[in-house]
Amino acid sequence: MSKQHVHVRINQGMSVSDEGELIEQFGCRCGAAWTKTYQVEDPEKD
Ligand SMILES: [Zn+2]
Repeated sequence: MSKQHVHVRINQGMSVSDEGELIEQFGCRCGAAWTKTYQVEDPEKD
């Protein structure tokens, strides 16, 4: 099968790095994977 399918980014959970960044993990059934990192600013920090 050479047909290229459209990846579906299924949310596989979130984690927080040591530096406080939010890491969102996605994966497709074909095995492709992505991560998305958010810089989280602490709203209570002042
Ligand atoms: Zn895929």
